[in-house]
Amino acid sequence: MLTYEEAKVTILAHARAQELEKVDFRNAVGRALAEDLVALEDQPPFDNSAVDGYAVKLNEIAKATEETPVVLRCQEYIFAGRLDTISLQEGECVQVATGAPLPLGADAVVMREQVVRKEDQVYFSHPTKSGNNLRRRGRDMSIGDPLFPVGTTIAPTHLALLAAQGLVEVPLHRRLKINILSTGTELVDPTIKPGPGQIREANSFLLEALLQTEACEVTRLHRVVDDLEGTIKVLDEALKADALLISGGVSVGDSDFVKPALKELGVEEIFWRVKIKPGKPLFFGQLGDTKVFGLPGNPASTFVLFEELVRPYLRKCLGHQQLEVPMRSAKITEDFDETSERLQLLRAHWYHQDGIDWVRPVPQQGSFSIASIAQANSLIHMPEDSQPLRSGQSVSVRPLAHRFALFG
Ligand code: AMP
Ligand code: MG
Repeated sequence: MLTYEEAKVTILAHARAQELEKVDFRNAVGRALAEDLVALEDQPPFDNSAVDGYAVKLNEIAKATEETPVVLRCQEYIFAGRLDTISLQEGECVQVATGAPLPLGADAVVMREQVVRKEDQVYFSHPTKSGNNLRRRGRDMSIGDPLFPVGTTIAPTHLALLAAQGLVEVPLHRRLKINILSTGTELVDPTIKPGPGQIREANSFLLEALLQTEACEVTRLHRVVDDLEGTIKVLDEALKADALLISGGVSVGDSDFVKPALKELGVEEIFWRVKIKPGKPLFFGQLGDTKVFGLPGNPASTFVLFEELVRPYLRKCLGHQQLEVPMRSAKITEDFDETSERLQLLRAHWYHQDGIDWVRPVPQQGSFSIASIAQANSLIHMPEDSQPLRSGQSVSVRPLAHRFALFG
């Protein structure tokens, strides 16, 4: 049986980057760049004023004092967006707005609050320094400067820069097409009141929503009952995707038909079973370019496997540099006595209080627990064969990606 690390390395080794597509920059948030982006234009694109004030030549007001102000004539006003070029003449200043192009020959701008104006006479009572209140062309960035490296996840904070540079079509990786199939004779649609022995189907909705936090086009297929022929038939269709996530039916029970059905269809088993709890019966396989994740049906198993192994796989295919939220350490708030020869992934609530990171395992750690998924904002990694955890002890925690967005 593979360890967690071996399973992850194996899964990631099978990830292939999706091909490049150009996407409107407004739809790029959360997706990863497929190429380096460099500045195509100087920013700001021209010398301009940082304030509302008066553009001057330094030497004209070099001797200005409060007692003997220098008076310059002002006949022009350059507003932001004015297109024609104005030159500063001797004995003159030019009124400028914030963002207005500078007149030719100006070395500085004096704020309007610092002068006195009487009609077209402007009184300066202090000298100024070269470059004061100016924003020179290229000061923010110059043509050819690196903007973002390949693999950057586009964040809302990147959009102003993309817009300013005219980078309205950005190179990303094509979205993944993912099919979801849930198996189980006991399952009914959430809209139906379950009869005796039946339960409402929950996992495909969880998976669909989780997949939508990454750049995936998701199709939820109609669930199948536990029967070999029917499973083969549905899987044949379900395999037409970049990846297929199957919930349930991968254990060793007499009504677990997913593995024999996949085998029948020629799907190669890459591995089955991992030393983790919950989630041991994970199946990973492939048919051509289609990858298959067989996730055990207990909802908490489906969930932790998605977060720890499926999400990093998707992010690698989608070209993200950051595949997962880094682990951090926190003090556990209470004893946790249950030990295991497998790595335990405990649903937990992580928080910061009085300068310390704390983490509290949610009360119900059974793999059947649907409530535990909703209560968790992180997963504690309790190593295989570890001693019971003691209150106040440091443990490794992975915050959940949707709670701590992965813009990096
Ligand atoms: P299985 O992996 O098929 O043996 O299922 C393990 C447990 O998870 C059983 O108790 C199932 O009833 C339950 N289960 C399986 N699939 C789902 C699902 N899609 N939604 C909710 N519970 C499920
Ligand atoms: Mg089942």
